Amino acid sequence: MKKLILCSIALLAFACNPKQTVGTVTKGKPGIVTPDDTVHFTAPKNIILMIGDGMGLTQITAGMYMNGNKLNLEQFKYIGLHKSYSSDDLVTDSAAGATAFSCGQKTYNGAIGVDKKGRPVQTILEEAEQKGLATGIVATCSMTHATPGSFFAHQKKREMVEEIAADLPKVDLDFFIAGGKKHFDRRKDEQNLIETLKGKGYVIFSYFDEELKNITIDPNKNFGYFTADVEPLPVSQGRDYLVPASLMALDYLTKQPEKGFFLMIEGSQIDWGGHANDSKYITSEVIDFDKAIGAVLDFAKQDGETLVIITADHETGGYAINPTSTMDTIVAAFTTDKHTAALIPVFAWGPGEELFSGIYENTSIYDKMRRAFGFSKKVQ
Ligand code: MG
Ligand code: ZN
Repeated sequence: MKKLILCSIALLAFACNPKQTVGTVTKGKPGIVTPDDTVHFTAPKNIILMIGDGMGLTQITAGMYMNGNKLNLEQFKYIGLHKSYSSDDLVTDSAAGATAFSCGQKTYNGAIGVDKKGRPVQTILEEAEQKGLATGIVATCSMTHATPGSFFAHQKKREMVEEIAADLPKVDLDFFIAGGKKHFDRRKDEQNLIETLKGKGYVIFSYFDEELKNITIDPNKNFGYFTADVEPLPVSQGRDYLVPASLMALDYLTKQPEKGFFLMIEGSQIDWGGHANDSKYITSEVIDFDKAIGAVLDFAKQDGETLVIITADHETGGYAINPTSTMDTIVAAFTTDKHTAALIPVFAWGPGEELFSGIYENTSIYDKMRRAFGFSKKVQ
């Protein structure tokens, strides 16, 4: 958010500087002491939230075995579990699941950045922008899909993709790479939102103009790149941008004058492999997502001020690794082609990682990220 570069010195020294919360203990409301209130941690400058859509423990396990019994995820020391249910269903969808992370609200399935009554709730990405941090989104689905959409849009139903797209120019998101170009420039209302974004100072490219790898990004301008007209291909059919897009996002965000950043990266299609009951689709997408995790971890290790959180919104498929499976041949079984309600793993690395061990609600991930950033407690 470039206009906040001028964040006053007083603010910089105070509310704008999350490092001021290092080692402090904040008391909860009288009579309510949450475990996080007693955790001492070093505040991160940057947070990268990586969501493997539909990535339950079996998806991770199968991906690991199909990848020579190793994953970058094994480097994480702080691991927790979240309860993924939504406000109206024990089995969440990706919209309610992402809104739990982005807004800290248990809401109904299908809700995009709105509470259970359908009222818009500021997302952590919007709050980060407001507080003077740089922001980014990278996904392997369309930008208007439930997971990325829930970080910048406020719509009552996930199917309202054109309305979700129309919310993007209202947020000063600094950087995005995802699919879904069509929902921006060939709309029923005939608005061209790509032109709208360009009018707001964005540089926008798409796969149609130029390959991502050939683009030199100007860090002085907001940047968007559409990887597909609607949904990007599965990695098994040649999609290869998650790692380079994540690295481009990190390069861009670290060049911003802001004092830190919030980046959401989604491995979107692990879920689609689950819906298809296709074990190879699942494992290839998990391995692709894990490569991006490796690239992000390498950055975070160099940087030293970045908290990396990996989780999923829910499990998909009731996926099981059945008898007669071997290390490189998964004999898979599925109980459903829908989502399931299993506890979902959370992995954290870097300053603030201590906050993420234990078992907690999916909405706590939002609370923990805000606490790590040093954003003040919200009055309930
Ligand atoms: Mg998703
Ligand atoms: Zn799904």
